[in-house]
Amino acid sequence: MLQQYLDAKARYPETIVFFRMGDFYEMFFEDAVTAARELGLTLTARNKGEEDEVPMAGFPHHSSGPYISALIERGMAVAICEQLEDPSQTKGLVKRDVVRVITPGLVMDPDSLDARTPNYVASVYGGQSGFGVASLDVSTGTFRATFVPDHLGLVAELARLGAREVISNPLASEVLEARKTKGFLRPKDEAFFESDEAEFSSGLRIERDLMMDGLFLDEKEVTKLLQPLRAQKGMDATLSASCGILRYLAQTQRGIPTHIRAVEFYEVGQYLVLDDSTRANLELTETLMGGKRVGSLLNTIDKTVSAAGGRLLRHWMNYPLVDPKPLNFRLDSVSEFVKKTVVREDLRLALDGVYDLERLCGRISSGNANARDLKALSNTISAIAPIKALLAEVESTLLVNLTTRLDTFDDLRERLEGAIVASPPVSLNEGGIFERGFSADLDELIDLTDHGKDWMLAYEAKEKERTKISSLKVRYNKVFGYYVEITRANLDMVPDDYIRKQTLANAERYFTSELKEMEDKILGAEDRRKELEYRLFERLRNEVAGQIPALLSAAQILAELDVLAAFAELALRHDYVRPEVDDGTRIVIEEGRHPVVERTLDSERFVPNSVNLDTQSSFLQIITGPNMAGKSTVIRQVALITLMAQMGSFVPAKTAHIGTVDKIFSRVGASDNLAKGQSTFMVEMTETAHILQLATARSLVILDEIGRGTSTFDGLSIAWAVAEHLHDRVRAKTMFATHYHELTELARTMEGAKNMSIAVKEWNDDIIFLRKLVEGQANRSYGIQVGRLAGLPETVVARAKQVLENLESGRLDERGVPVVARGQAPRVTPINNPNQLTLFGQRNPAEVAVIEKLGSLDINALTPLEALNALSEMKRVM
Ligand code: ADP
Repeated sequence: MLQQYLDAKARYPETIVFFRMGDFYEMFFEDAVTAARELGLTLTARNKGEEDEVPMAGFPHHSSGPYISALIERGMAVAICEQLEDPSQTKGLVKRDVVRVITPGLVMDPDSLDARTPNYVASVYGGQSGFGVASLDVSTGTFRATFVPDHLGLVAELARLGAREVISNPLASEVLEARKTKGFLRPKDEAFFESDEAEFSSGLRIERDLMMDGLFLDEKEVTKLLQPLRAQKGMDATLSASCGILRYLAQTQRGIPTHIRAVEFYEVGQYLVLDDSTRANLELTETLMGGKRVGSLLNTIDKTVSAAGGRLLRHWMNYPLVDPKPLNFRLDSVSEFVKKTVVREDLRLALDGVYDLERLCGRISSGNANARDLKALSNTISAIAPIKALLAEVESTLLVNLTTRLDTFDDLRERLEGAIVASPPVSLNEGGIFERGFSADLDELIDLTDHGKDWMLAYEAKEKERTKISSLKVRYNKVFGYYVEITRANLDMVPDDYIRKQTLANAERYFTSELKEMEDKILGAEDRRKELEYRLFERLRNEVAGQIPALLSAAQILAELDVLAAFAELALRHDYVRPEVDDGTRIVIEEGRHPVVERTLDSERFVPNSVNLDTQSSFLQIITGPNMAGKSTVIRQVALITLMAQMGSFVPAKTAHIGTVDKIFSRVGASDNLAKGQSTFMVEMTETAHILQLATARSLVILDEIGRGTSTFDGLSIAWAVAEHLHDRVRAKTMFATHYHELTELARTMEGAKNMSIAVKEWNDDIIFLRKLVEGQANRSYGIQVGRLAGLPETVVARAKQVLENLESGRLDERGVPVVARGQAPRVTPINNPNQLTLFGQRNPAEVAVIEKLGSLDINALTPLEALNALSEMKRVM
């Protein structure tokens, strides 16, 4: 048995093997030690105390669910090794084999999955020209691939996929490890991704190599799945990445389930690019503090009623469109739903009752679906025809298209309706699955088991009538089975067709051919019923499996209807408008609001703000204003409104005109990001560098207090140079919130730059926040007033004012606070300023002396000997 275990382990070395022994799953050797530690199981041993002691741990088989979840949560994979024979029917060792492998990225079990979040495994192949990235959600069969030319693109693509598990070839592994991307990394060797590219290009065959572990992947099937990659960008790499996915799938699922759809190729540039930090800073799917879902944009705008709708909304948020045409199709549909209240409400009501068709398909095709799943499928299919009827009158192109394509599955519905009882058991082996009328054979068996007794009574009455023996009894016992019992007194009336079975003291027992036949039927009927129900169920499941592609496309249509109706609902509830979306270059928002902040304010009403980012005159906006004035809020709201428009949603504004952007970047100065505990300034600079490399004239860049993570002069200088670069070279639409007033000078010299500020009102010594974005720079920074609002002691406030006055008048105060005049352009830090650290720390007098000496040398006039002497002198000083 241990040998059997070791064989399984050898074939799945990267997994924890759950080895079925009777009613338990057991683990041995290191697996036992790991599992005991991670799962809190007791570690025992086989052959305890002896030389060949084997560590062992286990748990009852029915409680495997939580243990599997716990292990994959920690990034491990579990191989389920089952008994393939009934131990009671087998002599010697029971046959066992691994039936499936569960890894973090390949989960089907609804209990281990979040209904509203897709669960991806990604495969990254680094080749000569760039990276192929393939991704699969095995619970729904969604399979996609793309090509990214560089590291940054790769990191951004993985961030929006949010894959839980990533397999990678050696080149990609190196990059991903260095960049610390999310998701459990599973480095694989080159061979894992191999595909026969030459044959593939010719469209004939692909991949002898995908046959492994004794599994045969149908070549035609594989070719069909990968066909869409032909002649696409970066085909070598995308093909290799996709082969990696299929190989991983085949290894873990023992084949490729039928619901896996042909790979869909997409270009990264088709979608608005949002990198990881932008997504985090804009709090798209979770908040910055604590990573909670509540308070994120997704949570705030999600009005979908179905799980699949929720997943699709998230997908649209991660993959917003750039092309205005499909966006306007979406917006037309939302408008129509806004207008047609009855249709929208009825549709939402109908969708609310629909089960997760996509994931049902996943379970059906992988053979994991039980009777409850088919019941759910039946209910869902029955809901489709009414939905289609509801949408009979729609007019917008997209809704017409979706409605027309929506199949109502009349045959399947007929087949399923009334097939399965209202609340079937989880187990498929216990019977009780089917309604009467589904199968005549089954009905007979059910009649027999349920009504064996009735039949006996009826038979007894019939025989009494026929024989005229009123004391005739039909009975059953375990030894003799069914019999007719006649007392001695009546023996002369026994008909000829009675066959004697047993003689008692005062009676005889008989059977008849009819009774015998019935006996055979009744006995064993129970077993046969269970068996038949199981077979009927399998057959039905296979019938359904044959329709999976059609079912999946219906599932997608329902999800899309859900999201579009949800956008309408959202717009109505929160007073959003339809944005005008085109491929122009302007972003003009009139009275825009921050979708999340506006909802969190109860007492203070949110103050709407207008923004006009024009490529000609005002594409770089420097926004000044005191802390807490609302700078971050207004710049983020511009990014969020743009993003929402590019999802196809209405937006929180009075009017909005969005020329679509190709990328949105959002960066927050280091000190705002402290909660994440990273080496903050370095992170800030790395991220800023990425923007400068990747942003284009079509991008939207949101910078919040960039340069804050270092000393004032360093920070200011960097902020200045970054702004200049974005203006002169990139010409991206940029909103730069800053407390460096010096930056307002930029607007004087740059034709595309404009100063904006958030208005505040001075009142006595206090300030009142007006939250209004206005043209022109802020007068002052009001830091001291904000400090006072926050409750700094009056003595500190007074002293701060004094220091400020000194600074502004250009004096040094008695404590030597350095002098900086307001409005001054940044300048190079003097090396002898004792208060200013240079990049390499402070210079000591010796260094200064050496520098001075160097400065005094006239190289052209020196002889080699003099040069040597000068060098040695400098050396001595050090
Ligand atoms: P800053 O970036 O200037 O320091 P924030 O944008 O963080 O300021 O805004 C501070 C707080 O002010 C926000 O948390 C919000 O509660 C409030 N606020 C910001 N903008 C508005 C607005 N337009 N209307 C009402 N309240 C706002």
